[in-house]
Amino acid sequence: MKVPFFRSPWQTPELAQQLGREMAEVLQGGHYILGPQVQSFEQSLSARYSHERQAIAVNSGTDALVLALHLLDLQAGDEVILPAGTFIACFEAVIRSGATPVLADSRADDFLCSAEQIRPLITPRTRAVMAVPLFGDTSATPAIAQLCKDQGIALIEDIAQALGAQTRDANGDRLHAGSMGDIATLSFYPTKTLGAAGDAGALISPHTHLVERARALRNHGRSGALHGEVGFNSRMDELQAVVLRHGIARLDTWLHERRSIAQRYLEQLADLPDIFLPHRREGHAWNYFVLRSPRRDELKAELNRLGVDTRVYYDPPIHQQPSYLQRFAAVELPNLQRHAQQALALPLYAGMPASEVDLVIDAMRAAVNSMRR
Ligand SMILES: *Cc1c(COP(=O)(O)O)cnc(C)c1O
Repeated sequence: MKVPFFRSPWQTPELAQQLGREMAEVLQGGHYILGPQVQSFEQSLSARYSHERQAIAVNSGTDALVLALHLLDLQAGDEVILPAGTFIACFEAVIRSGATPVLADSRADDFLCSAEQIRPLITPRTRAVMAVPLFGDTSATPAIAQLCKDQGIALIEDIAQALGAQTRDANGDRLHAGSMGDIATLSFYPTKTLGAAGDAGALISPHTHLVERARALRNHGRSGALHGEVGFNSRMDELQAVVLRHGIARLDTWLHERRSIAQRYLEQLADLPDIFLPHRREGHAWNYFVLRSPRRDELKAELNRLGVDTRVYYDPPIHQQPSYLQRFAAVELPNLQRHAQQALALPLYAGMPASEVDLVIDAMRAAVNSMRR
């Protein structure tokens, strides 16, 4: 493959060596879990929210979602509205919480699920909404936050793909992804904009009681010598925290690089027939650059032949996955079902050489041309 879909910044030899030296110190120090590296990373993360939100480091983005829903004390019969166009972990976490997942469609011209898709699904049993700024676009979240506020419903923001994304509210004020809900969840899975060298995640919240409870819950419900409730083991280890501390210091540079690459794709691919590019939105974090093509599978095969690796997020969508089919046999989400068959993510990562970006652009042009013949 001439252009890989993704390369981790930690594969860069100089960075790998630098991290290796710090990891060796941790190894020699002997404090391996929830130590000073984790604390320092948590501080850096909450500093991105001016310390108005506290961060709790956990083991994965999935665990963060499970803990976030646990904090809401949901009962059987309670409903949680979430987009069907998201990663399966969102759905799993709702099932694990004992509540009923209610799946929402995407917009007609966009992968995002917005307040208009959510509003008609609200019932007296709705306890929470999960907003997912998919692929790094948080522009739909302010209206969802307003809807939740008006209705007295808890809002969880799953910003696994949107750390660093920004948007504006109805008054034009700037808002950061993760600053609009009661709890936000993050994943540091290696392909995320801030990626670890393994599994890791975090929760952030402005509510002190939720923060304290989440801190205890990730470590068997323990607070001091006491176990106040049945908890989990979802602790972050020091070696991942070393990586993430370095990553968060570079995050703004990486976001800038991602935005420039997306900008080039948007400019250079704009004239291709039957290719629907993602919307150009201020503050988009571009974790993934996902276009739509009615002939997606052919396009993917053609790009692959030309040496460009691509990915599909997410097909089939959640409600059409085999294990869930029966449960959702009656659910029709026409926009998402169409998008799912058309979605294709192009390579985009921080540190991607300009020559690779050019290669992707050339390959896209060649692929579209050869498909027209
Ligand atoms: C990656 C991801 C998750 C899950 O994170 P893990 O760290 O892999 O458990 C959850 N939600 C979304 C939207 C994601 O992209």
